[in-house]
Amino acid sequence: MARRNTAAPKDRFDLAIIGGGITGAGVARDAARRGLRVLLVEQSDIASGTSSRSSKLVHGGLRYLEHGELSLVFEAVAERGVLVEIAPHLVHPMPFLLPVFEDSRRGMFTINIGMWLYDGLSLFRSPKLHKSLSRRRVRAAEPQLRAGGLKGAQVYYDCSTDDARLTLETVLDAERAGAEIRTHTRVEGFVKEQGRVVGLKLSDQLSGAVHEVGASIVVNATGPWSDQTLEMSGPVGQPRMRPTKGIHIVVNASRLKIEHAVCCMHPDDGRVFFTIPWGEQTYIGTTDTDFEGDPSAVIATADDVAYLLAATNDYFPDALITAEDIISTWAGVRPLVSDEAADHESSVSREHVLVVETDGVVTIAGGKLTTYRRMGAEVVDKVVEQLEEGGADLSGLTAAETELNPLPGAIGWPEDGGLDAVSKKISAVGGELISDATAALLAGSYGMRGINIAERVVAQPESAALLIDGRAEILAQIDWAVEAELAGTLCDVMMRRTQLYYRDDDQGLGAVELISGRMAKLLGWTEQVRSDQIVAYRDEVQRSRAWRDA
Ligand code: FAD
Repeated sequence: MARRNTAAPKDRFDLAIIGGGITGAGVARDAARRGLRVLLVEQSDIASGTSSRSSKLVHGGLRYLEHGELSLVFEAVAERGVLVEIAPHLVHPMPFLLPVFEDSRRGMFTINIGMWLYDGLSLFRSPKLHKSLSRRRVRAAEPQLRAGGLKGAQVYYDCSTDDARLTLETVLDAERAGAEIRTHTRVEGFVKEQGRVVGLKLSDQLSGAVHEVGASIVVNATGPWSDQTLEMSGPVGQPRMRPTKGIHIVVNASRLKIEHAVCCMHPDDGRVFFTIPWGEQTYIGTTDTDFEGDPSAVIATADDVAYLLAATNDYFPDALITAEDIISTWAGVRPLVSDEAADHESSVSREHVLVVETDGVVTIAGGKLTTYRRMGAEVVDKVVEQLEEGGADLSGLTAAETELNPLPGAIGWPEDGGLDAVSKKISAVGGELISDATAALLAGSYGMRGINIAERVVAQPESAALLIDGRAEILAQIDWAVEAELAGTLCDVMMRRTQLYYRDDDQGLGAVELISGRMAKLLGWTEQVRSDQIVAYRDEVQRSRAWRDA
Protein backbone atom coordinates (compact mmCIF):
# COMPACT_ATOMS: atom_id res chain seq x y z
CA MET A 1 0.00 0.00 0.00
CA ALA A 2 1.38 3.39 -0.99
CA ARG A 3 1.90 6.02 1.68
CA ARG A 4 2.71 9.67 1.72
CA ASN A 5 6.47 10.06 1.21
CA THR A 6 6.87 6.59 -0.27
CA ALA A 7 7.83 6.01 -3.86
CA ALA A 8 4.71 4.78 -5.64
CA PRO A 9 4.17 4.25 -9.33
CA LYS A 10 2.70 7.44 -10.76
CA ASP A 11 -0.97 7.26 -11.70
CA ARG A 12 -1.70 4.47 -9.24
CA PHE A 13 -3.74 5.58 -6.24
CA ASP A 14 -5.16 4.03 -3.10
CA LEU A 15 -8.29 6.12 -3.62
CA ALA A 16 -9.67 7.95 -6.65
CA ILE A 17 -12.59 10.33 -5.98
CA ILE A 18 -14.92 11.40 -8.78
CA GLY A 19 -16.42 14.85 -8.13
CA GLY A 20 -14.92 18.09 -6.82
CA GLY A 21 -17.98 19.35 -4.96
CA ILE A 22 -18.03 19.70 -1.17
CA THR A 23 -18.60 15.95 -0.73
CA GLY A 24 -15.60 14.87 -2.83
CA ALA A 25 -13.52 17.64 -1.26
CA GLY A 26 -14.33 16.41 2.26
CA VAL A 27 -13.42 12.83 1.35
CA ALA A 28 -10.14 13.93 -0.28
CA ARG A 29 -9.09 16.05 2.70
CA ASP A 30 -9.84 13.34 5.24
CA ALA A 31 -8.16 10.58 3.21
CA ALA A 32 -5.04 12.58 2.34
CA ARG A 33 -4.60 13.68 5.94
CA ARG A 34 -4.75 10.03 7.03
CA GLY A 35 -1.92 9.29 4.59
CA LEU A 36 -3.68 7.56 1.70
CA ARG A 37 -2.52 8.26 -1.86
CA VAL A 38 -5.48 10.20 -3.21
CA LEU A 39 -6.62 11.45 -6.60
CA LEU A 40 -9.59 13.80 -6.98
CA VAL A 41 -11.03 14.27 -10.49
CA GLU A 42 -13.48 17.04 -11.37
CA GLN A 43 -14.97 17.42 -14.86
CA SER A 44 -15.18 21.20 -14.59
CA ASP A 45 -14.05 23.52 -11.78
CA ILE A 46 -13.98 22.81 -8.05
CA ALA A 47 -17.52 23.55 -6.73
CA SER A 48 -18.91 24.21 -10.20
CA GLY A 49 -21.88 21.89 -9.48
CA THR A 50 -24.34 22.25 -6.60
CA SER A 51 -21.61 23.29 -4.18
CA SER A 52 -21.51 26.88 -5.46
CA ARG A 53 -25.28 27.07 -5.92
CA SER A 54 -26.59 26.52 -2.40
CA SER A 55 -28.22 29.02 -0.04
CA LYS A 56 -24.71 29.43 1.45
CA LEU A 57 -25.82 28.63 5.01
CA VAL A 58 -24.02 26.51 7.56
CA HIS A 59 -27.00 25.66 9.69
CA GLY A 60 -28.55 23.18 12.04
CA GLY A 61 -31.75 22.99 10.02
CA LEU A 62 -34.84 24.29 11.78
CA ARG A 63 -36.86 22.17 9.32
CA TYR A 64 -35.49 19.00 10.98
CA LEU A 65 -36.45 20.36 14.37
CA GLU A 66 -40.01 20.77 13.16
CA HIS A 67 -39.98 17.13 12.05
CA GLY A 68 -38.54 15.96 15.35
CA GLU A 69 -35.25 14.78 13.77
CA LEU A 70 -33.23 15.97 16.73
CA SER A 71 -30.13 13.87 16.03
CA LEU A 72 -29.73 15.50 12.61
CA VAL A 73 -29.98 18.96 14.19
CA PHE A 74 -27.53 17.98 16.93
CA GLU A 75 -25.00 16.76 14.37
CA ALA A 76 -25.39 19.82 12.14
CA VAL A 77 -25.05 22.41 14.92
CA ALA A 78 -21.95 20.59 16.17
CA GLU A 79 -20.49 20.79 12.65
CA ARG A 80 -21.42 24.45 12.47
CA GLY A 81 -19.25 24.97 15.56
CA VAL A 82 -16.33 23.05 14.01
CA LEU A 83 -16.49 25.03 10.76
CA VAL A 84 -16.46 28.37 12.59
CA GLU A 85 -13.24 27.16 14.27
CA ILE A 86 -11.44 25.79 11.20
CA ALA A 87 -12.65 28.40 8.69
CA PRO A 88 -13.43 31.65 10.58
CA HIS A 89 -12.78 33.68 7.42
CA LEU A 90 -15.47 31.77 5.52
CA VAL A 91 -18.09 30.78 8.09
CA HIS A 92 -19.65 33.76 9.85
CA PRO A 93 -22.37 33.90 12.49
CA MET A 94 -25.47 35.54 11.05
CA PRO A 95 -28.63 36.67 12.88
CA PHE A 96 -31.86 35.21 11.49
CA LEU A 97 -35.16 36.96 12.06
CA LEU A 98 -38.26 34.80 12.11
CA PRO A 99 -41.25 37.18 12.02
CA VAL A 100 -44.58 36.08 13.48
CA PHE A 101 -47.78 37.40 11.87
CA GLU A 102 -51.39 37.07 12.99
CA ASP A 103 -51.93 34.30 10.44
CA SER A 104 -48.60 32.49 11.06
CA ARG A 105 -48.80 28.72 11.45
CA ARG A 106 -47.00 28.92 14.81
CA GLY A 107 -47.28 31.64 17.46
CA MET A 108 -44.52 33.43 19.40
CA PHE A 109 -44.77 31.03 22.35
CA THR A 110 -44.36 27.84 20.30
CA ILE A 111 -41.53 29.26 18.24
CA ASN A 112 -39.79 30.43 21.40
CA ILE A 113 -39.89 26.87 22.76
CA GLY A 114 -38.48 25.58 19.48
CA MET A 115 -35.69 28.14 19.71
CA TRP A 116 -34.78 27.01 23.23
CA LEU A 117 -34.54 23.49 21.88
CA TYR A 118 -32.37 24.70 18.97
CA ASP A 119 -30.02 26.52 21.36
CA GLY A 120 -30.04 23.49 23.67
CA LEU A 121 -29.07 21.09 20.90
CA SER A 122 -25.98 23.20 20.30
CA LEU A 123 -25.30 22.78 24.05
CA PHE A 124 -25.94 26.54 24.31
CA ARG A 125 -22.85 27.18 22.19
CA SER A 126 -24.74 28.94 19.38
CA PRO A 127 -22.91 32.05 18.17
CA LYS A 128 -25.48 33.86 20.41
CA LEU A 129 -28.64 32.70 22.18
CA HIS A 130 -31.97 33.49 20.54
CA LYS A 131 -34.15 36.38 21.70
CA SER A 132 -37.79 37.50 21.28
CA LEU A 133 -38.53 40.88 19.72
CA SER A 134 -41.73 42.87 20.19
CA ARG A 135 -43.53 44.25 17.15
CA ARG A 136 -42.03 47.69 17.82
CA ARG A 137 -38.49 46.33 17.95
CA VAL A 138 -38.99 44.34 14.76
CA ARG A 139 -40.18 47.50 13.03
CA ALA A 140 -37.04 49.29 14.19
CA ALA A 141 -34.74 46.41 13.22
CA GLU A 142 -36.23 45.69 9.77
CA PRO A 143 -38.20 48.74 8.65
CA GLN A 144 -38.88 47.34 5.15
CA LEU A 145 -40.65 44.25 6.55
CA ARG A 146 -44.46 44.29 6.22
CA ALA A 147 -46.09 45.87 9.32
CA GLY A 148 -49.62 44.58 8.61
CA GLY A 149 -50.47 41.69 10.94
CA LEU A 150 -46.97 41.65 12.45
CA LYS A 151 -46.92 40.46 16.08
CA GLY A 152 -43.20 40.16 16.81
CA ALA A 153 -40.24 37.97 15.92
CA GLN A 154 -37.63 35.56 17.19
CA VAL A 155 -33.98 36.22 16.40
CA TYR A 156 -31.64 33.23 16.36
CA TYR A 157 -28.16 32.58 15.04
CA ASP A 158 -26.82 30.32 12.31
CA CYS A 159 -23.92 30.93 9.91
CA SER A 160 -23.41 32.12 6.37
CA THR A 161 -20.54 31.02 4.14
CA ASP A 162 -19.02 31.23 0.69
CA ASP A 163 -19.84 27.70 -0.45
CA ALA A 164 -17.45 27.75 -3.45
CA ARG A 165 -14.51 28.92 -1.35
CA LEU A 166 -15.27 26.51 1.48
CA THR A 167 -15.09 23.71 -1.08
CA LEU A 168 -11.95 25.14 -2.71
CA GLU A 169 -10.08 25.53 0.58
CA THR A 170 -11.02 22.00 1.58
CA VAL A 171 -9.52 20.78 -1.71
CA LEU A 172 -6.42 22.96 -1.28
CA ASP A 173 -5.89 21.46 2.18
CA ALA A 174 -6.21 17.97 0.67
CA GLU A 175 -3.59 18.96 -1.90
CA ARG A 176 -1.29 20.24 0.85
CA ALA A 177 -1.65 16.84 2.53
CA GLY A 178 -0.51 15.12 -0.68
CA ALA A 179 -3.67 14.58 -2.74
CA GLU A 180 -3.44 15.03 -6.49
CA ILE A 181 -6.19 17.27 -7.87
CA ARG A 182 -7.18 17.21 -11.53
CA THR A 183 -9.81 19.75 -12.53
CA HIS A 184 -11.38 20.06 -15.99
CA THR A 185 -10.88 16.32 -16.27
CA ARG A 186 -13.88 14.11 -16.87
CA VAL A 187 -14.25 10.50 -15.88
CA GLU A 188 -15.53 8.85 -19.08
CA GLY A 189 -15.62 5.27 -17.83
CA PHE A 190 -14.28 2.65 -15.46
CA VAL A 191 -11.37 0.26 -15.95
CA LYS A 192 -12.50 -3.17 -14.73
CA GLU A 193 -10.82 -6.45 -13.88
CA GLN A 194 -13.02 -9.48 -13.16
CA GLY A 195 -16.04 -7.26 -12.62
CA ARG A 196 -14.27 -4.96 -10.16
CA VAL A 197 -13.47 -1.33 -10.85
CA VAL A 198 -9.68 -0.90 -10.69
CA GLY A 199 -9.24 2.42 -12.43
CA LEU A 200 -10.71 5.35 -14.35
CA LYS A 201 -10.69 6.47 -17.97
CA LEU A 202 -10.09 10.22 -17.99
CA SER A 203 -10.35 12.94 -20.59
CA ASP A 204 -8.82 16.39 -20.14
CA GLN A 205 -11.59 18.83 -21.08
CA LEU A 206 -9.18 21.63 -22.00
CA SER A 207 -6.52 19.75 -24.01
CA GLY A 208 -8.58 16.76 -25.18
CA ALA A 209 -5.93 14.30 -23.90
CA VAL A 210 -7.21 10.92 -22.66
CA HIS A 211 -5.55 8.46 -20.32
CA GLU A 212 -6.16 5.92 -17.56
CA VAL A 213 -5.28 5.81 -13.88
CA GLY A 214 -5.35 2.88 -11.48
CA ALA A 215 -7.05 2.99 -8.08
CA SER A 216 -7.59 0.41 -5.35
CA ILE A 217 -10.90 2.06 -4.45
CA VAL A 218 -13.06 4.51 -6.40
CA VAL A 219 -15.49 6.86 -4.64
CA ASN A 220 -18.43 8.26 -6.58
CA ALA A 221 -19.06 11.74 -5.08
CA THR A 222 -20.85 13.22 -8.06
CA GLY A 223 -23.91 14.55 -6.21
CA PRO A 224 -26.79 15.02 -8.66
CA TRP A 225 -24.77 13.15 -11.33
CA SER A 226 -24.50 10.03 -9.11
CA ASP A 227 -26.83 7.85 -11.19
CA GLN A 228 -25.14 8.84 -14.48
CA THR A 229 -21.76 7.98 -12.97
CA LEU A 230 -23.00 4.56 -11.85
CA GLU A 231 -24.42 3.92 -15.32
CA MET A 232 -20.85 3.90 -16.65
CA SER A 233 -20.52 0.53 -14.95
CA GLY A 234 -23.85 -0.87 -16.17
CA PRO A 235 -27.62 -0.25 -15.91
CA VAL A 236 -28.59 1.24 -12.54
CA GLY A 237 -32.16 -0.05 -12.33
CA GLN A 238 -34.00 1.94 -9.68
CA PRO A 239 -32.54 5.50 -9.65
CA ARG A 240 -30.83 6.32 -6.40
CA MET A 241 -31.41 10.05 -6.68
CA ARG A 242 -34.56 12.16 -6.81
CA PRO A 243 -33.05 15.53 -7.63
CA THR A 244 -34.88 18.84 -7.19
CA LYS A 245 -34.00 22.31 -8.42
CA GLY A 246 -33.56 25.42 -6.27
CA ILE A 247 -32.86 28.93 -7.52
CA HIS A 248 -31.80 32.25 -5.98
CA ILE A 249 -32.03 35.82 -7.24
CA VAL A 250 -29.66 38.67 -6.35
CA VAL A 251 -30.58 42.36 -5.97
CA ASN A 252 -28.59 45.35 -4.74
CA ALA A 253 -28.89 45.96 -1.01
CA SER A 254 -29.91 49.53 -1.80
CA ARG A 255 -33.19 48.01 -3.09
CA LEU A 256 -33.75 45.56 -0.24
CA LYS A 257 -31.81 46.57 2.84
CA ILE A 258 -31.94 44.02 5.66
CA GLU A 259 -29.81 43.58 8.76
CA HIS A 260 -30.87 39.98 9.44
CA ALA A 261 -31.46 37.00 7.24
CA VAL A 262 -35.26 37.07 7.21
CA CYS A 263 -36.95 33.69 7.19
CA CYS A 264 -40.66 33.52 6.24
CA MET A 265 -43.16 31.13 4.68
CA HIS A 266 -44.05 31.58 1.03
CA PRO A 267 -47.64 32.94 0.88
CA ASP A 268 -48.61 30.49 -1.91
CA ASP A 269 -47.41 27.15 -0.55
CA GLY A 270 -45.99 27.73 2.93
CA ARG A 271 -42.46 26.72 1.92
CA VAL A 272 -39.51 28.33 3.71
CA PHE A 273 -38.36 31.49 1.99
CA PHE A 274 -35.19 33.47 2.86
CA THR A 275 -33.89 36.94 2.14
CA ILE A 276 -30.22 37.04 3.05
CA PRO A 277 -27.92 40.07 3.44
CA TRP A 278 -24.78 39.65 1.30
CA GLY A 279 -22.62 42.75 1.73
CA GLU A 280 -23.69 45.24 -0.92
CA GLN A 281 -26.23 42.75 -2.26
CA THR A 282 -29.17 40.77 -0.92
CA TYR A 283 -30.09 37.34 -2.24
CA ILE A 284 -33.45 35.66 -2.13
CA GLY A 285 -34.29 31.95 -2.25
CA THR A 286 -35.29 29.37 -2.84
CA THR A 287 -37.53 27.17 -4.93
CA ASP A 288 -37.96 23.39 -4.78
CA THR A 289 -39.18 21.74 -7.99
CA ASP A 290 -38.54 18.28 -9.46
CA PHE A 291 -35.62 18.20 -11.85
CA GLU A 292 -34.82 15.82 -14.68
CA GLY A 293 -31.97 15.95 -17.14
CA ASP A 294 -28.35 17.06 -17.10
CA PRO A 295 -27.54 18.95 -13.88
CA SER A 296 -25.04 21.08 -15.87
CA ALA A 297 -27.96 22.55 -17.80
CA VAL A 298 -30.01 23.78 -14.83
CA ILE A 299 -31.15 27.42 -15.06
CA ALA A 300 -33.69 29.74 -13.43
CA THR A 301 -36.94 30.03 -15.37
CA ALA A 302 -39.41 32.93 -15.50
CA ASP A 303 -41.78 30.93 -13.23
CA ASP A 304 -39.03 30.38 -10.65
CA VAL A 305 -38.22 34.09 -10.58
CA ALA A 306 -41.90 35.10 -10.40
CA TYR A 307 -42.39 32.76 -7.42
CA LEU A 308 -39.56 34.47 -5.48
CA LEU A 309 -40.64 37.99 -6.47
CA ALA A 310 -44.19 37.26 -5.27
CA ALA A 311 -43.00 36.33 -1.79
CA THR A 312 -40.49 39.20 -1.64
CA ASN A 313 -43.17 41.74 -2.43
CA ASP A 314 -45.62 40.14 -0.02
CA TYR A 315 -43.20 40.50 2.91
CA PHE A 316 -41.41 43.69 1.76
CA PRO A 317 -44.26 45.54 0.00
CA ASP A 318 -42.64 48.98 0.09
CA ALA A 319 -39.48 47.76 -1.63
CA LEU A 320 -41.44 47.11 -4.84
CA ILE A 321 -38.81 44.73 -6.21
CA THR A 322 -39.25 44.02 -9.93
CA ALA A 323 -37.47 41.89 -12.51
CA GLU A 324 -35.45 44.98 -13.44
CA ASP A 325 -33.81 44.95 -10.01
CA ILE A 326 -32.36 41.46 -10.45
CA ILE A 327 -28.61 41.51 -11.10
CA SER A 328 -28.08 37.77 -11.37
CA THR A 329 -29.58 34.38 -10.62
CA TRP A 330 -28.19 30.98 -9.79
CA ALA A 331 -29.77 27.56 -9.97
CA GLY A 332 -28.63 24.32 -8.35
CA VAL A 333 -29.75 20.70 -8.19
CA ARG A 334 -30.24 19.16 -4.75
CA PRO A 335 -28.73 15.68 -4.71
CA LEU A 336 -31.65 14.22 -2.76
CA VAL A 337 -31.67 10.50 -2.14
CA SER A 338 -34.84 8.73 -3.33
CA ASP A 339 -37.03 7.24 -0.60
CA GLU A 340 -36.37 3.74 -1.96
CA ALA A 341 -32.61 4.20 -1.74
CA ALA A 342 -32.86 5.66 1.75
CA ASP A 343 -35.06 2.80 2.95
CA HIS A 344 -33.39 -0.18 1.30
CA GLU A 345 -29.70 0.64 1.22
CA SER A 346 -27.16 1.17 3.95
CA SER A 347 -28.71 4.47 4.91
CA VAL A 348 -26.94 6.12 7.81
CA SER A 349 -29.53 8.87 7.95
CA ARG A 350 -32.29 10.13 5.71
CA GLU A 351 -29.86 12.82 4.60
CA HIS A 352 -27.30 10.71 2.77
CA VAL A 353 -26.53 7.17 1.67
CA LEU A 354 -23.21 5.36 1.58
CA VAL A 355 -23.23 2.26 -0.59
CA VAL A 356 -20.56 -0.22 -1.67
CA GLU A 357 -21.65 -1.21 -5.17
CA THR A 358 -21.20 -4.74 -6.51
CA ASP A 359 -18.26 -3.56 -8.64
CA GLY A 360 -16.52 -2.13 -5.54
CA VAL A 361 -17.26 1.57 -6.20
CA VAL A 362 -18.22 3.42 -3.01
CA THR A 363 -21.09 5.85 -3.63
CA ILE A 364 -21.79 8.74 -1.27
CA ALA A 365 -24.87 10.72 -2.16
CA GLY A 366 -27.12 13.28 -0.51
CA GLY A 367 -26.26 15.23 2.62
CA LYS A 368 -25.62 18.94 2.78
CA LEU A 369 -22.82 21.44 2.81
CA THR A 370 -22.92 21.85 6.59
CA THR A 371 -22.16 18.23 7.42
CA TYR A 372 -19.62 17.53 4.65
CA ARG A 373 -16.70 16.97 7.05
CA ARG A 374 -18.46 14.17 8.91
CA MET A 375 -19.63 12.60 5.67
CA GLY A 376 -16.04 12.65 4.42
CA ALA A 377 -14.80 10.84 7.55
CA GLU A 378 -17.55 8.23 7.24
CA VAL A 379 -16.64 7.54 3.62
CA VAL A 380 -12.94 7.20 4.41
CA ASP A 381 -13.74 4.78 7.27
CA LYS A 382 -15.58 2.66 4.68
CA VAL A 383 -12.69 2.97 2.18
CA VAL A 384 -10.19 1.86 4.83
CA GLU A 385 -12.42 -1.11 5.67
CA GLN A 386 -12.50 -2.07 1.97
CA LEU A 387 -8.73 -1.70 1.61
CA GLU A 388 -8.20 -3.90 4.67
CA GLU A 389 -10.53 -6.53 3.25
CA GLY A 390 -8.37 -6.42 0.12
CA GLY A 391 -5.33 -7.25 2.27
CA ALA A 392 -3.68 -3.81 2.29
CA ASP A 393 -1.18 -2.97 5.04
CA LEU A 394 -2.56 0.24 6.57
CA SER A 395 -0.29 0.38 9.60
CA GLY A 396 1.17 3.73 8.51
CA LEU A 397 -2.12 5.62 8.48
CA THR A 398 -2.62 8.45 10.96
CA ALA A 399 -5.68 10.27 12.33
CA ALA A 400 -7.09 12.91 9.93
CA GLU A 401 -7.95 15.41 12.68
CA THR A 402 -9.93 17.48 10.19
CA GLU A 403 -11.83 19.10 13.05
CA LEU A 404 -8.68 20.43 14.67
CA ASN A 405 -6.67 21.70 11.71
CA PRO A 406 -7.57 25.02 10.12
CA LEU A 407 -8.26 25.38 6.42
CA PRO A 408 -5.47 27.22 4.54
CA GLY A 409 -6.85 30.76 4.97
CA ALA A 410 -7.24 30.27 8.72
CA ILE A 411 -3.66 29.24 9.46
CA GLY A 412 -2.23 31.84 11.86
CA TRP A 413 -5.69 33.34 12.51
CA PRO A 414 -5.40 36.06 15.21
CA GLU A 415 -6.67 35.23 18.70
CA ASP A 416 -8.56 38.53 18.88
CA GLY A 417 -10.27 40.77 16.40
CA GLY A 418 -11.24 38.27 13.71
CA LEU A 419 -11.79 39.60 10.21
CA ASP A 420 -11.11 43.22 11.20
CA ALA A 421 -7.72 42.28 12.60
CA VAL A 422 -6.84 40.35 9.42
CA SER A 423 -8.04 43.23 7.29
CA LYS A 424 -5.74 45.59 9.22
CA LYS A 425 -2.78 43.24 8.69
CA ILE A 426 -3.48 43.25 4.95
CA SER A 427 -3.66 47.06 4.95
CA ALA A 428 -0.40 47.24 6.88
CA VAL A 429 1.35 45.15 4.22
CA GLY A 430 -0.33 46.73 1.19
CA GLY A 431 -0.04 50.35 2.41
CA GLU A 432 -1.48 52.89 0.01
CA LEU A 433 -1.70 50.35 -2.80
CA ILE A 434 -4.64 48.59 -1.15
CA SER A 435 -7.82 50.46 -0.16
CA ASP A 436 -9.75 49.60 3.00
CA ALA A 437 -12.52 48.11 0.85
CA THR A 438 -10.05 45.83 -0.95
CA ALA A 439 -8.38 44.82 2.33
CA ALA A 440 -11.78 43.85 3.75
CA LEU A 441 -12.64 41.90 0.59
CA LEU A 442 -9.29 40.05 0.69
CA ALA A 443 -9.72 39.21 4.39
CA GLY A 444 -13.24 37.88 3.86
CA SER A 445 -12.32 35.85 0.79
CA TYR A 446 -8.82 34.54 1.52
CA GLY A 447 -8.39 34.99 5.27
CA MET A 448 -4.71 35.07 6.22
CA ARG A 449 -3.76 34.29 2.63
CA GLY A 450 -4.95 37.81 1.82
CA ILE A 451 -1.59 38.87 3.28
CA ASN A 452 0.16 36.85 0.55
CA ILE A 453 -1.87 38.70 -2.06
CA ALA A 454 -0.94 42.04 -0.48
CA GLU A 455 2.74 41.03 -0.63
CA ARG A 456 2.37 40.29 -4.33
CA VAL A 457 0.80 43.71 -4.85
CA VAL A 458 3.78 45.33 -3.18
CA ALA A 459 6.15 43.33 -5.41
CA GLN A 460 4.12 44.14 -8.56
CA PRO A 461 2.30 47.44 -7.94
CA GLU A 462 0.49 47.27 -11.30
CA SER A 463 -1.47 44.30 -9.90
CA ALA A 464 -3.24 46.71 -7.51
CA ALA A 465 -5.36 47.85 -10.48
CA LEU A 466 -9.10 47.61 -9.91
CA LEU A 467 -10.90 45.10 -12.13
CA ILE A 468 -13.95 47.38 -12.37
CA ASP A 469 -14.03 51.04 -11.36
CA GLY A 470 -15.95 51.54 -8.15
CA ARG A 471 -15.55 47.92 -7.02
CA ALA A 472 -12.94 46.43 -4.66
CA GLU A 473 -11.58 43.49 -6.69
CA ILE A 474 -7.99 43.84 -7.96
CA LEU A 475 -5.81 42.28 -10.66
CA ALA A 476 -3.63 40.43 -8.17
CA GLN A 477 -6.62 38.19 -7.40
CA ILE A 478 -6.44 36.86 -10.97
CA ASP A 479 -2.76 35.92 -10.57
CA TRP A 480 -3.54 34.26 -7.25
CA ALA A 481 -6.51 32.36 -8.71
CA VAL A 482 -4.38 30.89 -11.48
CA GLU A 483 -1.20 30.25 -9.50
CA ALA A 484 -2.54 29.19 -6.11
CA GLU A 485 -6.21 28.30 -6.56
CA LEU A 486 -6.49 25.88 -9.49
CA ALA A 487 -8.40 28.30 -11.78
CA GLY A 488 -8.20 27.14 -15.39
CA THR A 489 -10.92 29.06 -17.26
CA LEU A 490 -12.39 32.54 -17.36
CA CYS A 491 -15.64 31.18 -15.88
CA ASP A 492 -13.72 29.75 -12.90
CA VAL A 493 -12.36 33.22 -12.11
CA MET A 494 -15.49 35.26 -12.82
CA MET A 495 -17.92 32.97 -11.00
CA ARG A 496 -16.09 31.26 -8.14
CA ARG A 497 -12.63 32.87 -7.46
CA THR A 498 -14.21 36.31 -7.61
CA GLN A 499 -17.98 36.71 -7.45
CA LEU A 500 -18.19 39.31 -10.22
CA TYR A 501 -20.71 37.15 -12.09
CA TYR A 502 -23.15 37.38 -9.18
CA ARG A 503 -22.43 40.77 -7.67
CA ASP A 504 -21.45 43.22 -10.39
CA ASP A 505 -24.32 45.16 -11.98
CA ASP A 506 -23.25 43.87 -15.42
CA GLN A 507 -22.08 40.45 -14.15
CA GLY A 508 -18.42 41.43 -14.74
CA LEU A 509 -18.79 41.68 -18.53
CA GLY A 510 -16.92 45.00 -18.46
CA ALA A 511 -13.83 43.26 -17.08
CA VAL A 512 -13.56 40.20 -19.32
CA GLU A 513 -10.98 41.74 -21.67
CA LEU A 514 -8.68 42.72 -18.81
CA ILE A 515 -9.08 39.44 -16.92
CA SER A 516 -8.82 37.14 -19.92
CA GLY A 517 -5.74 39.07 -21.07
CA ARG A 518 -4.06 38.49 -17.73
CA MET A 519 -5.06 34.82 -17.72
CA ALA A 520 -3.79 34.39 -21.29
CA LYS A 521 -0.33 35.58 -20.19
CA LEU A 522 -0.29 33.32 -17.14
CA LEU A 523 -1.65 30.22 -18.87
CA GLY A 524 -0.10 30.70 -22.32
CA TRP A 525 -3.45 30.96 -24.13
CA THR A 526 -3.48 31.72 -27.86
CA GLU A 527 -5.74 34.53 -29.10
CA GLN A 528 -8.20 31.84 -30.25
CA VAL A 529 -8.34 30.21 -26.80
CA ARG A 530 -8.80 33.58 -25.19
CA SER A 531 -11.67 34.52 -27.45
CA ASP A 532 -13.28 31.07 -26.90
CA GLN A 533 -13.06 31.69 -23.16
CA ILE A 534 -14.81 35.03 -23.52
CA VAL A 535 -17.56 33.45 -25.62
CA ALA A 536 -18.01 30.68 -23.02
CA TYR A 537 -18.36 33.24 -20.23
CA ARG A 538 -20.82 35.39 -22.21
CA ASP A 539 -22.87 32.21 -22.80
CA GLU A 540 -22.88 31.50 -19.08
CA VAL A 541 -24.13 35.03 -18.35
CA GLN A 542 -26.76 34.65 -21.06
CA ARG A 543 -27.99 31.38 -19.53
CA SER A 544 -28.49 33.11 -16.17
CA ARG A 545 -30.58 35.78 -17.94
CA ALA A 546 -32.57 33.42 -20.17
CA TRP A 547 -35.66 33.75 -17.93
CA ARG A 548 -35.99 37.35 -19.11
CA ASP A 549 -36.70 36.18 -22.68
CA ALA A 550 -39.59 33.91 -21.70
P1 FAD B 1 -21.82 18.72 -6.31
O1 FAD B 1 -21.39 19.97 -5.69
O2 FAD B 1 -22.81 18.83 -7.41
O3 FAD B 1 -20.50 18.01 -6.84
C1 FAD B 1 -20.50 16.93 -7.74
C2 FAD B 1 -19.39 17.18 -8.73
O4 FAD B 1 -19.18 16.01 -9.53
C3 FAD B 1 -19.70 18.32 -9.70
O5 FAD B 1 -18.77 19.37 -9.51
C4 FAD B 1 -19.58 17.67 -11.07
O6 FAD B 1 -19.00 18.52 -12.05
C5 FAD B 1 -18.71 16.44 -10.78
N1 FAD B 1 -18.87 15.37 -11.75
C6 FAD B 1 -20.03 14.82 -12.18
N2 FAD B 1 -19.78 13.85 -13.09
C7 FAD B 1 -18.43 13.79 -13.22
C8 FAD B 1 -17.56 12.98 -14.04
N3 FAD B 1 -18.03 12.05 -14.88
N4 FAD B 1 -16.23 13.19 -13.96
C9 FAD B 1 -15.72 14.13 -13.12
N5 FAD B 1 -16.51 14.91 -12.32
C10 FAD B 1 -17.84 14.74 -12.39
N6 FAD B 1 -26.63 22.73 2.14
C11 FAD B 1 -26.31 23.41 3.26
O7 FAD B 1 -25.67 22.87 4.16
N7 FAD B 1 -26.71 24.69 3.46
C12 FAD B 1 -27.47 25.35 2.54
O8 FAD B 1 -27.78 26.53 2.73
C13 FAD B 1 -27.87 24.65 1.39
N8 FAD B 1 -28.67 25.26 0.50
C14 FAD B 1 -28.96 24.63 -0.67
C15 FAD B 1 -29.75 25.31 -1.59
C16 FAD B 1 -29.99 24.75 -2.85
C17 FAD B 1 -30.82 25.48 -3.85
C18 FAD B 1 -29.40 23.50 -3.17
C19 FAD B 1 -29.60 22.95 -4.54
C20 FAD B 1 -28.67 22.80 -2.22
C21 FAD B 1 -28.44 23.36 -0.96
N9 FAD B 1 -27.70 22.70 0.03
C22 FAD B 1 -27.38 23.33 1.18
C23 FAD B 1 -27.20 21.34 -0.19
C24 FAD B 1 -25.75 21.35 -0.66
O9 FAD B 1 -25.49 22.44 -1.51
C25 FAD B 1 -25.43 20.06 -1.40
O10 FAD B 1 -25.79 18.97 -0.60
C26 FAD B 1 -23.95 19.92 -1.73
O11 FAD B 1 -23.43 21.07 -2.34
C27 FAD B 1 -23.75 18.71 -2.65
O12 FAD B 1 -22.38 18.57 -2.91
P2 FAD B 1 -21.83 17.39 -3.78
O13 FAD B 1 -20.36 17.48 -3.74
O14 FAD B 1 -22.44 16.11 -3.34
O15 FAD B 1 -22.39 17.66 -5.25
